Amino acid sequence: MKAIVTGAAGFIGSNLCRKLLADGFSVTGIDSFTDHYPRWIKERNISPLRAHNEFDFLDKDLDDLDPAGVLEGADCVFHLAAQAGVRASWGRSFDIYLKNNIRVTQKLLEASKGFPLKKFIYSSSSSVYGLTPTLPMSETNAVHPLSPYGVSKLAAEQLCFLYHKNFGVPAVSLRFFTVYGPSQRPDMAFHKFFKALAEDREITVFGDGQQTRDFTFVADIVQANLAALISGKPGETYNVGGGHREKLTDVIRLMEGITRTKARVLWTEKQKGDVPDTWADIRKARQDLGYSPKTRLDQGLEQEWLWIQKLYSS
Ligand code: NAD
Repeated sequence: MKAIVTGAAGFIGSNLCRKLLADGFSVTGIDSFTDHYPRWIKERNISPLRAHNEFDFLDKDLDDLDPAGVLEGADCVFHLAAQAGVRASWGRSFDIYLKNNIRVTQKLLEASKGFPLKKFIYSSSSSVYGLTPTLPMSETNAVHPLSPYGVSKLAAEQLCFLYHKNFGVPAVSLRFFTVYGPSQRPDMAFHKFFKALAEDREITVFGDGQQTRDFTFVADIVQANLAALISGKPGETYNVGGGHREKLTDVIRLMEGITRTKARVLWTEKQKGDVPDTWADIRKARQDLGYSPKTRLDQGLEQEWLWIQKLYSS
């Protein structure tokens, strides 16, 4: 089976490509190495894949490609390319989110109309929920994104839905809840915290540390993508989380244990767009996809810590 993976050099995309290749897929990865974080980190993510016979890579911006050409011969699309990150999505930067999160998704969906795709799997986000009065967050909850990023992810999700309803594109949206593990983006909290601990620097926490998040190990996210390919229902949206939530201060304690250091924390103001809590109700993904997160937070953090040490020691 031939899979297209957009955002292939990124955190989740590179992990997904590795698993697809190991499972016998032929993969075309596309990534334009946006400058959201350093190119060398993305190059490191995909360098082991480039050697694989069944891996083709296009260093191209999806906005400049002929989308029909991209889909030629493909059986499925995993659409991960996006401008990720909540905090940078304000002001003029929103243009980048409009282009990379909404316009590019619309182009791919438009081109998908005529193709016999088995599935088009879109990487959405828990950010679409925003401030929700009920926890855990269920797919039936009202959505009120609190950041421009969340709005862009929701818009693309809605595009997936309407291209399914109007044109039968077999699109499935997966709402990922804070993903962590090897290759995590350098703008994400665990990466920043581990790097600071390794360098004996203060870690900066936005807010009082009492915020809770449902953290999801990257291999579980990859597994959910594969399961969605097989049994995701077109037109549907699924939460993909770890299924429980942790306080940030408790995660810092875990990190201290793993790194055998004492964290010095610089407490700073809560950031606009950050929500107080996330927690995924994963019953729908369990039922339809057979999804079941496997990795405990302490185990996943150990793996990320090993990766961080290697990344910055070479
Ligand atoms: P990432 O930034 O590491 O990966 C995204 C990749 O997409 C980057 O390598 C970037 O260069 C590429 N890209 C962006 N625009 C492109 C374009 N126009 N053409 C070609 N390539 C382009 O981010 P990630 O954390 O791996 O996130 C992957 C997906 O998962 C995103 O859609 C993100 O919104 C979603 N998501 C991530 C998380 C998380 O916790 N990491 C949570 C929820 C949702």
